[in-house]
Amino acid sequence: MAHAIGIDIGGTKIAGAVVDELGRIVRQERVPTPTDTGALEDAVVAMIGTLRGGEEIAAVGVAAAGFIDAAQSTVYYAPNIDWRNEPFREKLEARTGGTVVVDNDANAAGWAEFRFGAGRLVSDMVMLTVGTGVGGAIVAGDRLFRGGFGAGAELGHLRLVPGGLACGCGQFGCLEQYGSGRALLRMANEIADAGGIGQRLARVRAEQGALDGGLVGDLIQQQDPGAIAALRQLGHWLGEASASLSAVLDPQRFVFGGGVAAAGELLLEPIREAYLEHLPARGYHPEPDFVIAELVNDAGVVGAADLARVWVADHA
Ligand SMILES: [Zn+2]
Repeated sequence: MAHAIGIDIGGTKIAGAVVDELGRIVRQERVPTPTDTGALEDAVVAMIGTLRGGEEIAAVGVAAAGFIDAAQSTVYYAPNIDWRNEPFREKLEARTGGTVVVDNDANAAGWAEFRFGAGRLVSDMVMLTVGTGVGGAIVAGDRLFRGGFGAGAELGHLRLVPGGLACGCGQFGCLEQYGSGRALLRMANEIADAGGIGQRLARVRAEQGALDGGLVGDLIQQQDPGAIAALRQLGHWLGEASASLSAVLDPQRFVFGGGVAAAGELLLEPIREAYLEHLPARGYHPEPDFVIAELVNDAGVVGAADLARVWVADHA
């Protein structure tokens, strides 16, 4: 079977790879993300050409942050790139002469976990990517769930706290404000301010000027009680959100990815606790697994390539 190409347009770099049907990377490329949209399109076209070489390719999948239409063609809106109703698929197909599909980056990463990683043994899976923000992906009945307009599975904007903290999306109390890397830093700073178990956090903050994800992550690995308390708060919010998601989607497995997921079991434990505490009809509901993502760096390109392959199979 022909290889597919996956391209993941990130905030700082564009990663691309030729991927086989088992999700294995055959060869890959990486370039910085240009800020200008024309230069960005040129860079993606050039990368497709380089990756393709002389080989016959089944299709190209491109992943980017933003709202993509259900036809996997038009980027309605991208937070990091100056795209508004950008017909990216049409432009790339015209310039490369092959089939191209465009998908949301969190969807691509979730699909890669479902096909080749932590979700491969189930039919229904929810993935939460806990990075600076919170990304979401839903697989229901072995299919990626996109919603009627293509903008579904924005799980970071699930309302968790009515009238809660303001979110970048314009609403209040979204999961992203309580369950993201940014939220973890806020919680760590609050614990540092309170003294007690926060003393070491406060000392590191004073020495380094400010806390960041790397510093808090190091303190978590060193079992610092203040940093662990912040992680537990974060995990509780993620577990509470997972209970609500279970009521709607009933997945067999929740997968947690992103930088914060490097904490592993230390993150999963408070998630499971809060999940059980908030699960409707507890005791009468089979319990899903909570696991950490497996395809850390390659999920975007592998998932984008495989979604392109799925599109071709669906439209054969
Ligand atoms: Zn929001």
